[in-house]
Amino acid sequence: MVHQKIFKFRLYPSNEQRQMIEKQMNLLCYVYNKLLEMKREQYKQNKKSLSEYDMNKLIRQITNTKDVHSQSLQNLSKRISEGYKLFFALRKQGIKKAGLPRFKKMENYKSITYPQPQSLFKDNKLIVPKVGLVEIRQHRKLLGKTKMLTIKKMPTGKWFACFVQNCDGKYDVLPKTGKVVGIDLGLNNFIATSDNEMFEHPKPLARLEKRRKMLNKRFSKKKRGSSNKNNARIKLARIDEKISNIRENYNWKVANYLVNNYDGICIEDLQIKNMMQNHHLAKAITDVSWGDFVGKLSYKAESAGRKLVKINPRNTSQECHNCGAIVKKELWNRTHKCTCGIEIDRDINSAKLILNKGLLPEWQDVKPAEMIPLQTTHRKIGLQELSRKQEDSSAMAIGSHLTC
Ligand SMILES: [Zn+2]
Repeated sequence: MVHQKIFKFRLYPSNEQRQMIEKQMNLLCYVYNKLLEMKREQYKQNKKSLSEYDMNKLIRQITNTKDVHSQSLQNLSKRISEGYKLFFALRKQGIKKAGLPRFKKMENYKSITYPQPQSLFKDNKLIVPKVGLVEIRQHRKLLGKTKMLTIKKMPTGKWFACFVQNCDGKYDVLPKTGKVVGIDLGLNNFIATSDNEMFEHPKPLARLEKRRKMLNKRFSKKKRGSSNKNNARIKLARIDEKISNIRENYNWKVANYLVNNYDGICIEDLQIKNMMQNHHLAKAITDVSWGDFVGKLSYKAESAGRKLVKINPRNTSQECHNCGAIVKKELWNRTHKCTCGIEIDRDINSAKLILNKGLLPEWQDVKPAEMIPLQTTHRKIGLQELSRKQEDSSAMAIGSHLTC
């Protein structure tokens, strides 16, 4: 079985190289928007949908540039095409809030993808097509065959290269534990599990987020185009980076904990869940964190030989895990109280329900949620206790540098 790993290394392009890469990004953004416009127009006029192949042919009509690698350009058709496929798949499932791919703004377009790059390194530097040899700090060895290379510019001004690699048979398979778990992704708690555990949001975030708000306010008051504005922007980007580091670290810890302790993990399908979220709740921050967490969890689960089951999140906050009745409750109502006699935290109920829905036939010998005593009190787990738990279970030392 092929297993994908992501390696992320810091890049140090020279000023000249930086300008070349940015020019490519601008051009890619322009072509992306043009292709999308053509696809929309074609559909409006002839009710004909342009395929990825059709769009690839159109690229040469838009630009005959030699400054961007042809595969990076073709990757745009693929992205648009996949965006449409996802939209229709979600529509089919009755998700009305699903959106079609949208036009992108030049200033937000900060990455270039090279599918199947041929050669990667020369003289310990990264070969960037149409740019040249770029200084890279490769702090660990690549393991397999690179399927994709992405170059990214972060808002702090740092540059990164991300390698998606196929690593055949290089599994860190863990011994079986005979346990499975359901997980509810929450707003009050980070996650709740069917084993009555609640993971709190990491505490340092609250403090930093307050500071971020203050810096953001300062930033918006500075005069446009001034050097003060630029300084404030960098300060803001730095704190964003810090926040995202803490969050990523925490996400790794929780993902490791779950993968070490359970053979099977049931979770809501996030793509659908996000679409269903109420706008007031769907704070961008929470979204990013969930997506990152599920990505890390999938990654760890796969490399450890664990099963991750994704279920449709419809009704998971209302349905009773014990009797299947729909128990309507407002958001502020934290308890699930059902006529069948169940009274537990609403998130724990959801987690148990998610486990029931996701149970695979081969897990029948493990304890489903119904067998677990019903009126249980849950335990709250903060960052400190999580670290302790982490040391207890056979910790697998894969660092946060694997993320992208
Ligand atoms: Zn019930």
